[in-house]
Amino acid sequence: MAEEKSPRPAVEETMIIGSGPAGWTAGLYTARAKLNPLLITGNDYGGQVSITYEVENYPGFPEALSGPELVEKMKEQAEKFGLTVEYDHVTEIVTDQHPFLVRTASGKEYKSKSLILCTGARPRYLEVPGEKKLMGKGVSYCATCDGFFFRGKDLVVVGGGDSALEEGLFLTKFATKVRIIHRRDELRASKILQDRAMAHEKIEFIWNTVVTSINEGEDGSVVGVTTKNTVTGEVSELKTDGVFVYIGHLPNNDLYHGKLHLDEDGHLITDKRMRTNVAGILAAGEIQDKVFKQVATSVGQGCSAAMQAEKFLADLEAEGYHDMGVDPREFPTYAPFVAATPAKATEQELVPA
Ligand code: NAP
Repeated sequence: MAEEKSPRPAVEETMIIGSGPAGWTAGLYTARAKLNPLLITGNDYGGQVSITYEVENYPGFPEALSGPELVEKMKEQAEKFGLTVEYDHVTEIVTDQHPFLVRTASGKEYKSKSLILCTGARPRYLEVPGEKKLMGKGVSYCATCDGFFFRGKDLVVVGGGDSALEEGLFLTKFATKVRIIHRRDELRASKILQDRAMAHEKIEFIWNTVVTSINEGEDGSVVGVTTKNTVTGEVSELKTDGVFVYIGHLPNNDLYHGKLHLDEDGHLITDKRMRTNVAGILAAGEIQDKVFKQVATSVGQGCSAAMQAEKFLADLEAEGYHDMGVDPREFPTYAPFVAATPAKATEQELVPA
């Protein structure tokens, strides 16, 4: 029998958008603070860690565990303290009135006094001919999801960061050969992964090279890539059965344009307390972090955002904003951060909805 959920209040104390490590941590802390939080998962349940084969650098798990396992543990812990989870996708937030409005794909509308935005990031595409058409037919961004289908096949991985090497190593479980194509002659990945990949008999590096197209065979799946050497300009054809792309990420910021300050790469700008430029709206994880992007850092940011939400709600109470409907930019708590916002943040001015 489906579990009965208790009815939600007319106005939420806090809502968390996103179900990656930052979101679950914000859920755990706000639940323990008795804020009766509601978390909306988004379409990509669990975020990027849920498509990670193995997490071996999250403290407390010396044996390593899979991304989906870690997500389930985080969810279980937050729910234990009272987090409510909705499997829905937020389509709009209204930020120039208080309480804020949150609208979802299932047609629901919520009001909330504070928001914790943890919408994370998604894989960056190569943007070359053939890529879009061959997605799911040999082009993939998730070794954990698709690696199994390439047993005994020859694969190409594009990128030179931690993801390319980590997932390239994972793909050696299935593939006969994994060629990692990198646009420079130096890797961005951590030394430990570099050493492992370099030492692996199935992995070969192709340096100073970019993929210029992904090529389709008669059966409609990938048969190879065209590459270009960035030093000599030489163009080559490479046969392969699959292409895994790991060239970084783009922040999931569709909800925030014209509403919250974004930096030049599209990340939400926050201060050290995880405050955005609208009082009561906090952000945590890869939507606002373009530097560290670790499970451990996202967890820390989710914790900070939750504690700040708690403080904001207490301030709100203390300052007497009981009757809602005011513009949150008029809250006194907004003023200190506006002063601290870097000048470049003002390039994308707030446009009232
Ligand atoms: P990343 O560190 O940003 O690396 C992206 C790689 O793709 C770089 O080598 C970059 O080349 C290359 N690249 C970017 N655009 C390209 C293009 N258009 N064509 C060809 N190559 C392109 O991204 P990531 O590897 O996904 O890692 C993201 C973050 O997650 C990092 O902070 C990383 O440390 C972290 N992470 C950690 C672990 C772990 O600790 N085990 C695992 C996965 C990810 P250049 O080097 O020339 O810029």
